[in-house]
Amino acid sequence: MNLPPLPTTVIGSYPRPKWLREAITLAKNGRLSREDLQEAFNDAAITVMRDHQVAGIDVPTDGEVKRDEMVEFFAERLKGFRFYGPVRVWGTAYYRKPSVVSKIEYNRPMLVDEVEFTKSITYTPYFKVTITGPYTMAYWSYNEYYKDRREMAFDLAKAINAEIRNLVEAGAPVIQVDEPAIHSSAEEVEWAVEAVNESVKGINAKLMLHICYGDYKIVAPYLNDFKVDQINFALKIYNYKPLKLFKEHGYEKEIGAGVIDVHSRNVESPEEVYKDIKRLMEYFPLEKIWINPDCGLKLLPRNIAFSKMVSMVKGVQMVREELKKSGIVGK
Ligand SMILES: [Zn+2]
Repeated sequence: MNLPPLPTTVIGSYPRPKWLREAITLAKNGRLSREDLQEAFNDAAITVMRDHQVAGIDVPTDGEVKRDEMVEFFAERLKGFRFYGPVRVWGTAYYRKPSVVSKIEYNRPMLVDEVEFTKSITYTPYFKVTITGPYTMAYWSYNEYYKDRREMAFDLAKAINAEIRNLVEAGAPVIQVDEPAIHSSAEEVEWAVEAVNESVKGINAKLMLHICYGDYKIVAPYLNDFKVDQINFALKIYNYKPLKLFKEHGYEKEIGAGVIDVHSRNVESPEEVYKDIKRLMEYFPLEKIWINPDCGLKLLPRNIAFSKMVSMVKGVQMVREELKKSGIVGK
């Protein structure tokens, strides 16, 4: 991949434009046709891609605007799941927790349409597609069929692997497996890593893994065992304390460093991002560092999400300028 030093990317999700949310409601009430809703989804993907382009993101996504939720979307499309009512996750946020009631099997492509469309609108050959990983899928579902969660996760891994193969076939150059739950259980983490590796087995694309909020100590000893090129983490919210932990465990892959707190509406300044990157460079070699927000930007107001991306890119550009002046990067 031909990218500048400190390549910038996003984790995946981006706020849905208000008009898309309105269009979804209209369609639910039978006042907008399926075709019109599809057109609205496509227009939203174009809009998000354009926001990424204007902000200067090197490896963009379509903002996952066509997906409601990161577990539900896949559970609805794989064989073996059924849905009961919504469960409360926190405060007033609900999600429809799926339940596994028979053997999980790969039915049909889930994101191939999304990849094909993204490919047709992208401003760079290096766009990214995200998919929820087997452990997080298993951890966030009820199990009414398998002996244990491990068995469930490995069948999920097979299905996800089949899908990723199709995504690469459809032209996805960068695949990110999302595993926000991977460090939820110290007893399960060892086989959870194997399940992730099973899901990316034999895949010929740049592979990333996303891990965010939680206790990184649980997963730190296994980080080098993941068969991916890069792992990106939420770091800003922890004031970069996990860097020391990763270093202690001899972390040697590319690191996607979260430098934007997606839980705060306060927009980081480019200077703050610049300083944070300088700290990162004390821990890891320049060629192994990528820059991203801590997590998806979905829950922020769109203008704030956009401003945060702009600051992130500007902070990176300040470091790039400095590198150029010092002759370290001669481009
Ligand atoms: Zn995340």
